[in-house]
This record gives sequence, structure tokens and C-alpha cells, in this order.
Amino acid sequence: MSAETVLYMVIPCYNEQEVLPDSAEKIKNKMTALMARKKISKKSKICFVNDGSRDRTWEIIQELCRRDPIYSGICLAHNEGHQNAVLAGLMTVKPYCDAAISMDADLQDDINAVDAMLDKYDEGCNIVYGVRDNRETDTFFKRVTAEGFYRFMKLMGAEVIFNHADFRLMDRRALDAFADYTEVNLFLRGIVPMIGLRHDCVYYQRKERLAGESKYPLKKMFAFAWQGITSLSSEPIKCIVNLGLGISVISGIVLIWSLFRYFTGQTIAGWTSLIISLWLLGGLVLLAIGIIGEYVGKIYLEVKRRPRYLVEEFIDANQKQAGDMLTGSLKHSGK
Ligand code: UDP
Ligand code: MG
Repeated sequence: MSAETVLYMVIPCYNEQEVLPDSAEKIKNKMTALMARKKISKKSKICFVNDGSRDRTWEIIQELCRRDPIYSGICLAHNEGHQNAVLAGLMTVKPYCDAAISMDADLQDDINAVDAMLDKYDEGCNIVYGVRDNRETDTFFKRVTAEGFYRFMKLMGAEVIFNHADFRLMDRRALDAFADYTEVNLFLRGIVPMIGLRHDCVYYQRKERLAGESKYPLKKMFAFAWQGITSLSSEPIKCIVNLGLGISVISGIVLIWSLFRYFTGQTIAGWTSLIISLWLLGGLVLLAIGIIGEYVGKIYLEVKRRPRYLVEEFIDANQKQAGDMLTGSLKHSGK
């Protein structure tokens, strides 16, 4: 049964010219070993998604595809970010594969975990999550912020798998279900668990980046966490309501207290309390408007229903009509 499995590895790449040749070689070795053991079909491919890189990434991918049909490549029309690049890759290869594994180009995720993922797939799992065992190779700072991120997400009501990034296997059924999640504010780690179906986890140790540098600096990480929370849960709005209620109760008490002081003739200068409450309430109101504005902004983006990515070119030896560029890009334009 498993020798029939057509597996596509989907690798998003943004300015990855330093790591790409090395990663391509390592992934290919893994794939050929799996083919030799009849774990996967010979039609299986390694599909690189060029996310509008400004360096030689796409040239390297094209060269790889020319050299060896095991490689396939998708070129996005411009930089759409990691999440959209993964989505574009998965949706483009969906018609050609039985299962797809998404994985970063820097091979920080252990390629050997693929074996265990395929075993779980053979046992009937539709989705297999790659979960990091520990974060010893990360810097202290990255570890604390990243684990804090998962905890905070949970607190805010977004169901994410602890320490699972975007290294996962999805079979055709899961990919079909996933295609119906058409939101523009994409947060894969939150959406995939919503699909349900049969799923399991595979544990591995995360390594250091092969070369090049992280495309996720602190600022982007915060933006990512914020995107995750606001696109998955309305918990912040509930917090504001509770805060508002609490403050109203306190104001009631203060009102009674000041009236009491007034009628007993103990009037105070009042400047301090006035100025403090003015600033406090002003700040809270602004914060509340800001958070609500964030959701309104998200609604604005969703109602526009803009395509989430555009495939400019798709090179793949399994494609029925080679050079079918235009229909390919229209069909897979992310709608
Ligand atoms: N990436 C992408 N588009 C972007 C930023 C990143 O496709 O706009 C890819 C990048 O090439 C890599 C993966 O997303 O394969 C994860 O990025 P990185 O390794 O820099 O993140 P980190 O592992 O440091 O969180
Ligand atoms: Mg990385």
C-alpha cells in the first residue's frame, strides 16, 4: 500500500540561497532512501516554494528542477510571508499527491522524523504534527519567548499544539478540508487543529539553522503572535468587557464614597484623583478602541476576499500539461 503513496515535501523559501543547495541534497537523500524502502512512490517530489525572494533562490530552484525530476518548484508572484507560502505550496501540490509534508528550508526540523510521520500515515492518520522535544539548541531568549507564545495563545483561547511549528504531514483528505478554510488572516497552527480528523504527534529535536539567518526577528514574532490571537479568538474583546465592568463597579463605590465625603463636609482638593482617573480612563478607552479596531481591520481584509497568493510559475514533472502556467496560476490563485 505505502509504495503507492505519492509524498510531496513542501518547503517555503525566502532568501535561502545559503542553505538551499545543502538542504535540497539532504532532503533528496531522505526521499530516495524512502523510495528504496518502498515507503513512498517514485513519483514523490520535493517542492520548493519561492516566496518572492530577492536573492538567487529561484534560480537555484530552477537549476535543481532541471537537474533532477525529483525537485519541483513554485514561484509566487511576490513575497506573501511564510504562512501564505506554505498554503500556496500545499494547495498547488494537492491534486498531485496523497500526502504532503510542510517543512522549513533551513532543516531545523529533523528530516528523520518523516519516517515516523509516514508510519502514522500508514496507520490511518490524516494529520501528523511534528512536535519539538526540547529547545536546547535555541537561545534562552528564543526559548522563553516561543514557549511564552504558546502559553499565551492557549490563555487567549486559541487551540494550538504546544511546541508544534509548521512541520506537519497532511493527507489528501485533510488538505481538501483545509482548502475550505478561506480566511485571509492565515494562522496555520490554529486552523489545522480545527479540521479534526485522525491525528497524532511525532517528537523530534530541533536543530540549529544550517546557514543564513532567521527570517523571524522579535518584531515579526510579536506580529505573528498578535495575528494568531486576533484571527482565532475574540478573547481580547471579552477581556475589555470584563475590565469595563470592573471599572464601573469601582466607579460606583468611588461615587458613593465621594457623596458621603461631600455630605459630611469633608471635601478634598481632588486634583490627584481627577488627573489619575482622567489618564487611566483615557488610556483604557484608547486601548479598547485599538483592539476593536484591530478586529474591524481584520473584517475589512476578509470581506475583500483578495487572493492570498498568486502562483507565477509551477515546475513539476508530474504535471499533466507541462508549461500550463496560466491556468495553473488561475486555478491556484488562493481563492
Ligand atoms: N519564509 C518564507 N517567507 C517569509 C519568511 C520566511 O517563506 O516571508 C520561510 C523561510 O525561508 C523558512 C521558513 O519560512 O523556510 C521559516 O523561516 P525561519 O527559519 O527564518 O524562521 P525561524 O525558524 O527562525 O522561526
Ligand atoms: Mg528556521
